[in-house]
Amino acid sequence: MPRRHSWAEPYKIKMVEHLRMTTRAEREEAIREAGFNTFLLRSEDVYIDLLTDSGTSAMSDRQWAGLMMGDEAYAGSRNFYNLEAAVRRFYGYRHVIPTHQGRGAEHILSIMCIKPGDFVPGNMYFTTTKAHQELAGATFVDVIIDEAHDPQSDLPFKGNVDLRKLEALIKRVGAGRIPYLCLQTNVNMAGGQPISLENLKATCDLCHRHGIRVMMDATRAVENAYFIRMREKGQSHRTIADILLDMCSHTDGCTNSAKKDSLVNIGGWLAVNDDDLADKARNLVVVYEGLHTYGGLAGRDMEAMAIGIEESVQLDHIRARIGQVEYLGNALVRAGVPIVRPIGGHGIFVDAARFLPHIPREEFPAQALAAALYVQSGVRAMERGAVSAGRHHDTGENLFPKLELIRLTIPRRVYTQAHMDVTAEAVIDLYEQAENIVGLRFTFEPKHLRFFQARFEPVVGARVLRTETIDEPVAVGAMGDGI
Ligand SMILES: *Cc1c(COP(=O)(O)O)cnc(C)c1O
Repeated sequence: MPRRHSWAEPYKIKMVEHLRMTTRAEREEAIREAGFNTFLLRSEDVYIDLLTDSGTSAMSDRQWAGLMMGDEAYAGSRNFYNLEAAVRRFYGYRHVIPTHQGRGAEHILSIMCIKPGDFVPGNMYFTTTKAHQELAGATFVDVIIDEAHDPQSDLPFKGNVDLRKLEALIKRVGAGRIPYLCLQTNVNMAGGQPISLENLKATCDLCHRHGIRVMMDATRAVENAYFIRMREKGQSHRTIADILLDMCSHTDGCTNSAKKDSLVNIGGWLAVNDDDLADKARNLVVVYEGLHTYGGLAGRDMEAMAIGIEESVQLDHIRARIGQVEYLGNALVRAGVPIVRPIGGHGIFVDAARFLPHIPREEFPAQALAAALYVQSGVRAMERGAVSAGRHHDTGENLFPKLELIRLTIPRRVYTQAHMDVTAEAVIDLYEQAENIVGLRFTFEPKHLRFFQARFEPVVGARVLRTETIDEPVAVGAMGDGI
């Protein structure tokens, strides 16, 4: 027998944040008050919060120390120069413009490059990115490979660009109407699926032959670099920092939300190599975000970002980050729970349609599953299915996308392996009694982005999870128990 080598988090805990343990009766009350929508729960009532990995990471002691080194000068803060140096060193771009978060950078890029009537191709849309492209007058064109839309496909690089789709677009509309291609790394809406270095280079080559810029969405580029190291031929000897620099070197600039890879709670930046474009961006950022040496951030935020960038490319860190996602995913796979494969970089996507075959799509199985999981365990997940997709803007009919999922998104460095065990057990428990979950119908449906604020009720009875025996989780004594 080979000796077993256990895995453990590459950090120890210096400060703790207490979690409130709730009873099932309390959670039933809380989800009812929230209209069976996990977005409307109070965070206080949540035990393990897997709603998103955006801005929810834990900072290190070095980052917290960095906050105290904030230079809150209006202009020319030392922390800006530290951030600029970190971006140049690890991403390799010449000009760096801070913004309040990723969408601030997307806004500046979109309004400075897009003319009304333009087309912006990309390897799958992202919500805020596409919104800014469209507000600037462009049409987004999805050029990702077909397999990215198939939860059963096991390809290692489901984030790849389909070069034939890209060529066809260039032929159809002409390169002059394509200001840039938006190249997403570790494609979020596909489940955190990477693009290969080979495909990234080929995509950049094709664009550059036609005089089209490539702007990367580098929000999850470090996670992508890790998958390149693990999955792509001839890359396993390279450092994450080396692969990241290589990826960026083929592109002309990027937008970045530092709330993901870079381990901070707020912040982002835009980077470009072109001097003229940089001047334009520096001019626009003053109007929308703040002076080009702070972009809507405090000096301390930029310091935490600079330190976070360096920490994010350490192999120990990124291996543990993605390792934790895989640990949870593998526990579910072993139990036969249907999830999107391969396991991606930032979360596990559970296939609610297959989990709850007795609930018709019209009764929103993913919404019901997220609500039932909360009632069962206090774990908060997010719906990614028909409720998120909304209605057809002409017919007003509900859209039923191929994927009806819930997302268990893992914040970085926040939860331990034990939290993953509890989460896996909760999902598996629920899978074994899935027939007790009841479908939902709207009681309130907002017009825009309805998933955030919609309210529901069970189609029968008052509860989303109809079980008679109530298993209380083993609660750790709350503070002040006096033992
Ligand atoms: C989160 C995210 C963004 C937007 O960044 P914000 O900081 O939330 O504005 C853009 N692209 C991707 C891929 C993201 O995950």
